[in-house]
Amino acid sequence: MLRSHTCGELRPEHVGAEVSLCGWVDRVRDHKGVIFIDLRDRWGRTQVVAGPDSDAATLTAARAARSEWVLRVTGRVGARPEGTTNPKLATGAVEVVADRIAVLNEAETPVFQPGAAELPGEEIRLAHRWLDLRRPAMQENMLLRSRIVKIMRDHFDELGFVDVETPMLGKSTPEGARDYLVPSRLEHGSFFALPQSPQLYKQLLMMAGFDRYVQVAKCFRDEDLRADRQPEFTQLDVEMSFVEADDVMVVIEGLVQRTAREILGLDLPLPLPRLTYDECMERFGHDAPDLRFGLEIVDLTALAGECGFRVFRGAVEQGGRVRGIRVPGGAGRFSRKDLDGLTAAAVEAGAKGLVWLKCEADGSWSGPVAKNLSDIAAGIRDRLGCQPGDLALIVADSFAVTCKALHTLRRRLGIELDLIDSRALNVSWVVDFPMFARDEETGHWAAMHHPFTAPKPEDVDLLESDPAGCRAIAYDLVINGSEAGGGTIRIHDPAVQERVFHALGISAETARERFGFLLDALRSGAPPHGGIALGIDRWVMRFGGLDNIRDVIAFPKTQRASDLMTGAPATVEPKQLADLGIRVIAPPKPPTP
Ligand code: ASP
Repeated sequence: MLRSHTCGELRPEHVGAEVSLCGWVDRVRDHKGVIFIDLRDRWGRTQVVAGPDSDAATLTAARAARSEWVLRVTGRVGARPEGTTNPKLATGAVEVVADRIAVLNEAETPVFQPGAAELPGEEIRLAHRWLDLRRPAMQENMLLRSRIVKIMRDHFDELGFVDVETPMLGKSTPEGARDYLVPSRLEHGSFFALPQSPQLYKQLLMMAGFDRYVQVAKCFRDEDLRADRQPEFTQLDVEMSFVEADDVMVVIEGLVQRTAREILGLDLPLPLPRLTYDECMERFGHDAPDLRFGLEIVDLTALAGECGFRVFRGAVEQGGRVRGIRVPGGAGRFSRKDLDGLTAAAVEAGAKGLVWLKCEADGSWSGPVAKNLSDIAAGIRDRLGCQPGDLALIVADSFAVTCKALHTLRRRLGIELDLIDSRALNVSWVVDFPMFARDEETGHWAAMHHPFTAPKPEDVDLLESDPAGCRAIAYDLVINGSEAGGGTIRIHDPAVQERVFHALGISAETARERFGFLLDALRSGAPPHGGIALGIDRWVMRFGGLDNIRDVIAFPKTQRASDLMTGAPATVEPKQLADLGIRVIAPPKPPTP
């Protein structure tokens, strides 16, 4: 090694030792002819000093050194003089008095200083990612990620799981998103799909007898990106044979507890709370609710159906619901403009409007439609449990719209009213999902998880008679209001698999063509099996208290799925296209600036 110690290692007990350090120049200061260099590496920062006592070459090198130059410094560890120690720095009690400074490499003036407090915009950080990754905060994120993955690997290894790699070049697996396709050179017109998940491979590994599988798996989904999504992401992918849902959940709970303890020093009591999907939608309007705060949704439909207010009664007559949230102390806090903002948010979520009511000192309601609601005023107050000074927010619409609007308001108020303890870690399960949801575009039934999910035994016969009422053996892991994993027990009976394909409108021929290998494998002795996949990027975000997914991925893509550093995606040589038998019909778009 070119160094004897790292830049984060030296302490008072090293005083007097001859050491050599390597690293980047974080900062240089010239203090009346004495040069102070903060040398930085992955482990920390150490102050290096060159002064009048140093030889001429050392002093010259120290004077020349600029931000981000790479140096090797040899010298003796000294105690910093009293009054110049830095208690915020682990190495802050010592410095290295340089005997020799070798410039291992110079650096052009960096686009931004990794050590500076002020950061440039994210696009600049992404375009110069190697500089951005030099920042201690980014290095911490990557180290956290590495530790979390290590805990995962250890956990599953100790439980006898086998790590098996599955192909990147495969056939499309339906997880509900668009595939990334890779053209075949040998069979023009044929395409591989990059895996949306190793779902079918891992099921086949169970049919092959591996019993317990685990993989840190790259997955690809060509979706319109939301803030917490990336086109390629990493899952901890797990599958187990001869299990029921509880068995998979217990294994994951052990991992959650271990991660919370090792990363956060938190003792998370097990078993984790479980909520059914229906309960989540009733109480929070969402299937991944943030349980760190209250503001639960209350149903007012029975009251509203009887009332004189046309908007409420009309919604109920059309089979909809009237539901509301009580905001404690909200009457005084929100101005008319704030309430207009909340109304706009509800409307953007699909609601026709928002009814707000302020509970006055005498218990009466005020608000634009308060007088229309006089016949149920007391009822609303009692149902919501409102006290003088509280605010009630009410939406009347289809169940789905009330869910969406009230979930949006709840989440927004949780942040605005500072109801969320940012140090809290809330991990829970959501179970008993519906098997199917209507595809909003086509109107057809689509699998809520994926088409290989087993229905609950008592609901199997609803597959044909009442698909909407058919529940799945599915479990999602929710951390602080965001889905951090999801899994299911799989279908191992080929007849049930065919019935599910049928319910999804997949004809027998299509099923054979696309999933023939699965149907054959199911007929060749398939054990009962099930599993889960955990989103590693999101785990790192949650355990690191971070809210930008790009901060936990070394080389992420933008929300437009491009890599600002390499310029991918990019056009290719005509020869490459010719080899693949591909002609591009749309001219390439000019690169985004
Ligand atoms: N393949 C599923 C997913 O990627 C997870 C699973 O069911 O194991 O969401």
